[in-house]
Amino acid sequence: MRRVALLLRNARLVDPAVKLDRVADVVVRDGVIVEVGKDLAIPKGETVDLAGKVVLPGLADIHVHLREPGREDKETVRSGTRAAARGGFTAVCAMANTTPVCDTGSAVRFLVERAAAEGKVRVYPVGALTVGSAGEALAEIGDMLAEGAVAFSDDGRSVADAGMMRLVMDYVKRFGAPVLAHCEDAGLAGRGVVNEGAVSTRMGLSGWPAAAEEVCVARDIRLAELTGCRLHVQH
Ligand SMILES: [Zn+2]
Repeated sequence: MRRVALLLRNARLVDPAVKLDRVADVVVRDGVIVEVGKDLAIPKGETVDLAGKVVLPGLADIHVHLREPGREDKETVRSGTRAAARGGFTAVCAMANTTPVCDTGSAVRFLVERAAAEGKVRVYPVGALTVGSAGEALAEIGDMLAEGAVAFSDDGRSVADAGMMRLVMDYVKRFGAPVLAHCEDAGLAGRGVVNEGAVSTRMGLSGWPAAAEEVCVARDIRLAELTGCRLHVQH
């Protein structure tokens, strides 16, 4: 927390929540905004001219990969949350496709503890829908919620079996949490490496029809209607 007064001058302030969009000055004291207005001054402290710049509330990225545990060579809670803070993000939702997959209460607790120790922004864990994100057995949804998970997702993998997806959504719905879905019918996608169409034919590449995604989006919307579960189609 900043212990000195900070004056941000001439910034464009944007906050849709309070219908704010105008150029003004901001005084921050001990990390808290204490005044917004025109031609403000502070007796001592730091003044920064932000003419041409935009000041926003902290942004939230609801789909990030902090890779911890298992792939710390790619990213860690520390590096990922520092990058988030640098980009203006004050909250992130960390996906469950770590190694091992985040599919238990203790795995969620590990992330919460890492975030408390190393995180630079708020970290909201996303737990897996199914054990190991393999699509075959329900993960420990209740335990993960109790430890701080806010949503559930098998990240880049679809729950192939519609009956299992229904079970998952039925269960998650009871806790009021959303399911974040990856919509891809593996059979239809096959070995496609490019969008199926004239170009894939001309290039001799195996195509991936748009229907591979569309049938799964349609299925999950229908299952959301059936179960009443909140659904976010992420990719
Ligand atoms: Zn992802």
